Amino acid sequence: MKKSYHADDKGYYGVFGGSFVPEMLHPNMEILQESYLKIMNEPSFKQEFKALLKDYVGRPSPLYLAKRLSEKHGAKIYLKREDLNHTGAHKINNTIGQILLAKRLGKKRIIAETGAGQHGVATATVCALAGMECTVYMGEIDIARQAPNVARMKMLGAKVVAATSGSKTLKDATNEAIRAWINDPVEIHYIIGSVVGFHPYPDMVARFQSVISEEMKWQLMEKENTEYPDYIIACVGGGSNAAGAFYHYLDHEKVKLVAVEASGKGVDSGESAATSVLGKEGIIHGSKTLLMQTEDGQIIEPYSISAGLDYPGVGPQHAHLFRSGRAQFLNATDDEAMLAGLELSKLEGIIPAIETSHALAALDKMKFNKEDIVVVNLSGRGDKDLDTYIKYFDL
Ligand SMILES: *Cc1c(COP(=O)(O)O)cnc(C)c1O
Repeated sequence: MKKSYHADDKGYYGVFGGSFVPEMLHPNMEILQESYLKIMNEPSFKQEFKALLKDYVGRPSPLYLAKRLSEKHGAKIYLKREDLNHTGAHKINNTIGQILLAKRLGKKRIIAETGAGQHGVATATVCALAGMECTVYMGEIDIARQAPNVARMKMLGAKVVAATSGSKTLKDATNEAIRAWINDPVEIHYIIGSVVGFHPYPDMVARFQSVISEEMKWQLMEKENTEYPDYIIACVGGGSNAAGAFYHYLDHEKVKLVAVEASGKGVDSGESAATSVLGKEGIIHGSKTLLMQTEDGQIIEPYSISAGLDYPGVGPQHAHLFRSGRAQFLNATDDEAMLAGLELSKLEGIIPAIETSHALAALDKMKFNKEDIVVVNLSGRGDKDLDTYIKYFDL
């Protein structure tokens, strides 16, 4: 059988993935599993999705040849400008897709969980767009440290509910969201923000984000007369921007895929989010994947200077890409990422999100030939991170 890097019909990528959820969620899950591909393939769905990506999100996002960055690193480096999307990152591609799906499933209310607030804002945005009621669960600690995003969600009409159990952060917010869904499985659709969770979420989110590599193919053809770059580099938190940037290249093994995780204060510092290096097989949010955990299976709190990368697991497809060797996994520390973010700002006039800065930091760790075509997925813009940059560099 031909090797596959896509989900099988049970949502498995090799040994990873699947759906491990409480009995009470089975009916919901099954409806979603049975209908997502059918709905996504309907011509009217495709047309509405495409039109919103164009007129609301502002796609296609440009593929920009970064000349000064290229000179510095000795390769042809292109930036896929997801930072120019409405709301400032790739996350909106997925939330637009899921809100259209929720409408077709006859859902009345949307729930979501958020850590840094970016996915909460992207969800609140599409709920306003679609006129749907929106509740976002967020850890009490995260609410305090992400005040601007909480304000954005409220302004967009969403209700923000504090998760006050456990460590009062992302995984507690996720537990609250799942509890709410169990209480009203018929009316509610749960919008997950990355390629994580039980089947069909990882595959569904990857498909919504795959517009990134779909555009890359024709944009490279226009500029380089080939659809295939030598390298694609993307940062990985849960893994959705990377999954979208890799999607149409997974079966073309000549295209080298590079995933960059956050190693915080260093892989061995105890304060990191380098899941592929540190993780062991385990189940989180309903799927089997690589997970940072103690000997007895307690989740280890991840750490990164970038709020979007401090997730203790990684999507099951990425676990499989790591295990199979299809993608190379690198990591960048806080310091390396911050310097790479400053470098891009000075060389190209583009201030990246700190998550994205991790992908840029990988350029220093790689060896290129001058003719190599390298695409870095510029997952988001740095406006939200200005305070962190200011404090770090004493600007
Ligand atoms: C949320 C976020 C990420 C991390 O999420 P993935 O699912 O791994 O893509 C990366 N970059 C930006 C700008 C983000 O907002």
